[in-house]
Amino acid sequence: MLYTPTGFKYSTSNSDAKTEPPTEPCTETNSSKKERPPGTYMIWAMEVIGASAAFLYYLHLYTDLLKPKVKERLNPDKYTPFTLVEREQLTKDTDRFRFRINRPRFDEELEKTVDSIITQGAWALDVKDHLVQTYRTYTPVDYFVSSTVDDERGLREGYCDLVVKRYSNGSLSRFLHSTRVGDTVEIRGPILTWPYEPNKYRRIYMIAGGTGIAPMIQLIDRIIDQDPKTQISLLYGSQSESDIIYRQQLDDLARQQSDRLALTYLVDQGPASSDTQLGRPDARSVSKFVEGFDKSQDVVLVCGPDPMMAAVSGVRPIGPSQGPLSGVLRDLGFSPNNVFKF
Ligand SMILES: Cc1cc2nc3c(=O)[nH]c(=O)nc-3n(C[C@H](O)[C@H](O)[C@H](O)COP(=O)(O)OP(=O)(O)OC[C@H]3O[C@@H](n4cnc5c(N)ncnc54)[C@H](O)[C@@H]3O)c2cc1C
Repeated sequence: MLYTPTGFKYSTSNSDAKTEPPTEPCTETNSSKKERPPGTYMIWAMEVIGASAAFLYYLHLYTDLLKPKVKERLNPDKYTPFTLVEREQLTKDTDRFRFRINRPRFDEELEKTVDSIITQGAWALDVKDHLVQTYRTYTPVDYFVSSTVDDERGLREGYCDLVVKRYSNGSLSRFLHSTRVGDTVEIRGPILTWPYEPNKYRRIYMIAGGTGIAPMIQLIDRIIDQDPKTQISLLYGSQSESDIIYRQQLDDLARQQSDRLALTYLVDQGPASSDTQLGRPDARSVSKFVEGFDKSQDVVLVCGPDPMMAAVSGVRPIGPSQGPLSGVLRDLGFSPNNVFKF
């Protein structure tokens, strides 16, 4: 390929070059050599750069077109439709919703962003009701992506489980509870809710009520898996024994990790079994629960319905602020540094 200042000229031999009238022998000192106008080399260089950029751009577009488009990918900046693939009733008013998640065969920029959020601590997703354009935040209790690649579809398949309580006058929770397997729901995320540094704490004290168990389940799984130095104590309040969410999984884990995970179940109403206590997270149960708390090495996490939050730590306002610390934990002398409200 020969290049002239006016563009590309394609040639398989030197024959084209031969058609040009021969020029004078070209040496630096040849006075008869035609002077090129100043800046000619600069223009050539810019044309070469421009043409190369255009070539690379079209090559990128072309290879992009060849790639299969992967739908149902998490995106922190954009709502994307995800298919509900499974739904299971857990208690009288709470269901588990499983959404299919896909990842392109090769990890791309978006997946790196998603991973970097997920690995930083506890995370959640915004779920939107597309009809009324409202959204609420939910904490996945399970997130899995297969290591096996589906070559035909150019992706790895996975899922994400949300546990959502239905409120009779709740906007988003009623919408989610009206969906059926096969429906699509718009989801945005992940969103980091609590940045967590592995092995930073000696013991994490978790106080949860109802579906407030969701971030605790997410963190328990991770800590047991990855942070051998961290111990966990969970105080979990429910309306009744049949309202305890994920009890079997929690009990199994506590049996396997008896030196690292301690569970205390509280129920508002009986009957209560031998390993469940009647009561709520209140002054009596919370002060007993945090007896061994070490302010320099431990942290308390709180998540639950507003009345429980008000009693234990103070309600967290909407937005990034934690709001002032109040309730039992403040009365016990805890400082805001020792407590995180979800
Ligand atoms: C970071 C974060 C993570 C969350 N994760 C989960 C989760 O995993 N699972 C889950 O079910 N929820 C979770 N929530 C709560 C969820 O976002 C919604 O607030 C909840 O589903 C109610 O929304 P709604 O639109 O149905 O009710 P809304 O229309 O907002 O409220 C309707 C009525 O429901 C009542 N209500 C709302 N929320 C509560 C509550 N927590 N306790 C008692 N009454 C209430 C209120 O009294 C209100 O009058 C989370 C919230 C946050 C901020």
